[in-house]
Amino acid sequence: MLDPDEPNPVRVLREDGASSIFLTGDHAGRAIPRRLRGLGVPLAEMDRHIAWDIGIAGVTERLSEALDATAVLQAYSRLAIDCNRDPSWASAMPVVSEYTPIPGNEGLTDADRAARVAAIFTPYHDRIRGLLDARAAAGRRTLFVAMHSFTPSFKGERRDMQVGVLFHRDVRMANVMLDLLRAEGDLIVGANEPYAITDDSDYSVPTHAEGLGLVHVEIEIRQDLIADAAGQTAWADRFARLLRAADARIG
Ligand SMILES: [Zn+2]
Repeated sequence: MLDPDEPNPVRVLREDGASSIFLTGDHAGRAIPRRLRGLGVPLAEMDRHIAWDIGIAGVTERLSEALDATAVLQAYSRLAIDCNRDPSWASAMPVVSEYTPIPGNEGLTDADRAARVAAIFTPYHDRIRGLLDARAAAGRRTLFVAMHSFTPSFKGERRDMQVGVLFHRDVRMANVMLDLLRAEGDLIVGANEPYAITDDSDYSVPTHAEGLGLVHVEIEIRQDLIADAAGQTAWADRFARLLRAADARIG
């Protein structure tokens, strides 16, 4: 699927970072494997939220640096394969995203799907699991933080919240982050808004964090706030401070 000159699907920052915080970015990139010929999607659509989580790579890079935290970032567009979906789900290679048809995802064979899984999904998730297993073997504490961003307007519905805290069965870290974010005083904070984690819509948290019993949270930041370097730095600074506080509070 990928030629040697195409981006590696996985980018690991600070593999030996000292922080308990472990960051992931399932939707940090928007590359399309050359062999998929752009999926038949107009180039302008690839700038939109349907292709990736706008701004989250910049936030997560800065946050990794500020905390000395390991971060694992995925380089390919979620339109090629969504690494926060089980590959057997239709939503892993959507034929429509918001209102945009994705012609290159029509009529995929099992072999077509398997090729994308092998090239992108498996290396990404295997790397995460390898790093988490190594930390466990070394007796290291891990707080799993999945970093995402959300569009300010979806299917015509405007979203006023700046940040969302997503959780599932284990609310230890989500409750602490909700407290800390609400105490900032200048934010509208979503609790399982604008999305919620479920077993039918998410892969990374259920598989890695819940699967290994790790304390975890999923964060969603509104994309217009982190579209440029200044916004990314401001939100990374804020989250570096709050995640340090959460780490200390969870104990
Ligand atoms: Zn995302």
